[in-house]
Amino acid sequence: MIPVSRPQEPPGVLKRNAARWLSELQAAIANLQAVKANPTSTKQEVAKAEKNVEKTTIKYRQKEIKDALERIFHGKCAYCESQVTTTGYGDIEHFCPKGNPRCVTLTFDWSNLLLSCEKCNDAGHKGTQFPLDSNGNPLLIDPTDNATDINKHLHFSWDSVDGARVQGRDARGKEVERIFDLNSDRGSRKELIKHRTERVKYMFSLLKIAQETGNLEAIALLKEHCQSRAEYSAFAVVHILPYLAHHCHDPEAVALLKEVAQRSPEYSIFARVNNLPSIP
Ligand SMILES: [Zn+2]
Repeated sequence: MIPVSRPQEPPGVLKRNAARWLSELQAAIANLQAVKANPTSTKQEVAKAEKNVEKTTIKYRQKEIKDALERIFHGKCAYCESQVTTTGYGDIEHFCPKGNPRCVTLTFDWSNLLLSCEKCNDAGHKGTQFPLDSNGNPLLIDPTDNATDINKHLHFSWDSVDGARVQGRDARGKEVERIFDLNSDRGSRKELIKHRTERVKYMFSLLKIAQETGNLEAIALLKEHCQSRAEYSAFAVVHILPYLAHHCHDPEAVALLKEVAQRSPEYSIFARVNNLPSIP
């Protein structure tokens, strides 16, 4: 997971229609409740009212909205940072889930829409889950909220036995780790672990080349891995970027490190030259 900037302005189709779509959805829900409450309603009448709620809900599924989210998220899942288009189409995901009654008013709210892979969004993972803390604030992290320091809640770790892991540092991070099964503790994300670990391993072998030989091509490839558009850049920013900045003295890497540190106080503490972990 990495922080992502969302333009204030929603895509045109959402700006023009969100208010109308919401009132149609609320009317459809009210109608369903009335049909269900009526003892003379038939099964068919209930099914028809349910279908109408579904039809009214999915109006957010617009190419213009999906395209905008793909640009904002660089085609990556907001939660697991995998390229959503590698094996599927990706989902328009509701941070506050559309199937959760407290979130109905956010069904067409631009700030509530994210891009996610189908796996993170499915019923076995986020589904309609939206855990809250004792003050009623969401425990999950919205990477577009411009306020949450992701590195404070999540640790992007590496070790040679378990590979690349996303570990929760606190209650919020632990919920992210658990709900999306980011380390496949429930066995549901084996492909994610394999792919992510291979990518991070590859980064380390490039880093060895860069350090031992100063090879410019290796440094250029590593800088690419640290960019937000690269898959699992959260790992590259933690494990690679400080070395490029402090040891290879690459000016672009120094600039990027400063940029990341500005957004993340936790990262700025970590990424000082004396605090760096040793390279495997
Ligand atoms: Zn995902």
